[in-house]
Amino acid sequence: MSAFVELLDGYHRFRRNDYQAHRGQWEELAQGQQPPVMIISCSDSRVDPATLFDTAPGQAFILRNVANLVPPFEPGSGHQGVASAIEYGVLGLKVRHIVVMGHAACGGIAAALNGVDLGHPDQGFVKDWIALVDEPRSEVMGDDSLTDKQTGLEMAAIRHSIANLRTYPYIAEGEKAGTLQLHGCHFAIGEARLSVLDENSGQFVPE
Ligand SMILES: [Zn+2]
Repeated sequence: MSAFVELLDGYHRFRRNDYQAHRGQWEELAQGQQPPVMIISCSDSRVDPATLFDTAPGQAFILRNVANLVPPFEPGSGHQGVASAIEYGVLGLKVRHIVVMGHAACGGIAAALNGVDLGHPDQGFVKDWIALVDEPRSEVMGDDSLTDKQTGLEMAAIRHSIANLRTYPYIAEGEKAGTLQLHGCHFAIGEARLSVLDENSGQFVPE
């Protein structure tokens, strides 16, 4: 069975089972969405937020990209997929929480640490994208007490993305007004363990 046929198989299974069981809910969802949460996570196939947080359709507005990074607020700088999703989530959907979720063994973070060569002369987007973590990368590399640079940068990148979220005026305003909260999480894949950022200490605490 090809990987695509496997997907279609999954779709038919969903139609027969989950969809039949929650038909009323799907009819309601067809009228619109009001998710209270926005999640920014990595595109990595192992860390699907809907699976890890066991969410239902309509519960979370999800943005996924390489290494779950958020660029700073830079109006007029071209096609801004991440900023568009943030703008729509905060201003359009009025989400009350934004969660940045990083994870262990992140390929994007490994690329930021070790460089990236994808074997094509026209490559370059990933390299440019992960330059977003240049600043936390220098901090992590300069910290001699930190032996596990990979995990250190995964966590530092989450803190950096949260700091960048605060450069969006409507996010800073929402936090000040108490209508919006920002959270950081890190997910260890093998043991399926989630740690949550304590912003007072800067540490990730196992949930
Ligand atoms: Zn990743």
